[in-house]
Amino acid sequence: MFDTLQDRLAATFKGLRGKGRLTDADIDATAREIRIALLEADVNLAVVKEFIAAVRERAKGAELSGALNPSQQVIKIVNEELVDILGGQTRTLRFAKRPPTVIMLAGLQGAGKTTLAGKLAKWLAEQGHTPLLVAADLQRPNAVQQLTVVAERAGVAWYAPQPGNGVGDPVAVARESIGIAETKQHDVVIVDTAGRLGVDAELMQQAADIKAAVNPDEVLFVVDAMIGQDAVNTANAFAEGVGFDGVVLTKLDGDARGGAALSIARVTGRPIMFASNGEKLADFDVFHPDRMASRILGMGDMLTLIEQAEKTFDAEQSAKAAAKLTGRGGEFGLGDFLDQMKAVRRMGPLSKIFGMLPGAGAMKDQIANIDEKEIDRLEAIILSMTPTERDNPKILDGSRRSRIAKGSGTKVSDVNQLVDRFFEARKMMTALASGSMPGMPGMPGM
Ligand code: GDP
Repeated sequence: MFDTLQDRLAATFKGLRGKGRLTDADIDATAREIRIALLEADVNLAVVKEFIAAVRERAKGAELSGALNPSQQVIKIVNEELVDILGGQTRTLRFAKRPPTVIMLAGLQGAGKTTLAGKLAKWLAEQGHTPLLVAADLQRPNAVQQLTVVAERAGVAWYAPQPGNGVGDPVAVARESIGIAETKQHDVVIVDTAGRLGVDAELMQQAADIKAAVNPDEVLFVVDAMIGQDAVNTANAFAEGVGFDGVVLTKLDGDARGGAALSIARVTGRPIMFASNGEKLADFDVFHPDRMASRILGMGDMLTLIEQAEKTFDAEQSAKAAAKLTGRGGEFGLGDFLDQMKAVRRMGPLSKIFGMLPGAGAMKDQIANIDEKEIDRLEAIILSMTPTERDNPKILDGSRRSRIAKGSGTKVSDVNQLVDRFFEARKMMTALASGSMPGMPGMPGM
């Protein structure tokens, strides 16, 4: 899921790398590309239009900050808008003040309701709740049996009409189950209702009757994310016919394009609360709009890094360094190098910072081996130099190097290595600076 969208967005952002600032034409071109990417992912047209308008307006607006380069700024805006259309804040279950809390599931047949009932029950049980699963799906021949199997696998109690015992009235079963939960001290009741292959009036009426009978604290609309735009239409039909408080997306493990996920919260005005991503009971999670957005952007924790860069960014210092690197305002010396390293360090432990960069997965071993002490050593070496030496490392001859090594408690080879590294880094940073500064200090080209 989201693979194509991810690739497309990544290509769009890549096109912005190295740009010093964004012109209106750049922003329009970027907006156009994002628009195509979203439409290809089967996102609802109205949602796409709103999304693009917001991104374009914000990108052209005054919020462009000195801490981020244009590519990072656009990523940040797109991310925030994605979080917004996915529902903003994570919405958790509301529990009744007086138990039992009643959760009712509604949706089409095959959406994954019964499976979800088991997942939800297991998840609640793990948090110390004592859920009761109720089979109010008497339409499908196997539904009752399926629910009891799921309940047993989840290790939770269930209630279902016994054959010959007034079978046929799901509303009555649902109503009875509340009394049973009270007697047997179940603090949550999960009512699974019947689905049909398509939306029909009778089904809606039955769901509405069950809802009226059990007065649920939460009605969850369960929908298969693989059905794309149909998910949005079905959601609208259920919103009108039954009404619901939250959405559960199932089959997110499938290879759908993701349009349903990206449209449904905005179109229905109801939050996505849970996500199902497999057939096993453990394949289930609370839905976090922010995490889903960063997954779509495929940025790992790049976004966290962007946030931290913004927080710790020192505009004046960065402008000074940029000026030096681009040949205005004196030479970029070891003192500036140290300042830049310290700026990067303020963002957190180095191993963590590098771990958050895209592509970090492939460098896991090297990242684990980054030695924080190494940075302390570099700092000690630079601080053992005179201001003149820091400004002009070219004058560092043999005797100066041994003095510095002694002063910093290191070896001459350490000093040599640092000086070599500095010249390398300066070359790279100069190249970066002439393209994309102000950017993050010493960051490999984002
Ligand atoms: P219901 O008719 O709404 O109760 O749907 P079911 O719970 O019976 O699920 C229908 C089918 O979808 C079953 O074969 C489930 O195993 C499968 N299913 C449910 N949730 C998921 C999911 O998140 N991922 C995948 N791959 N399959 C699922």
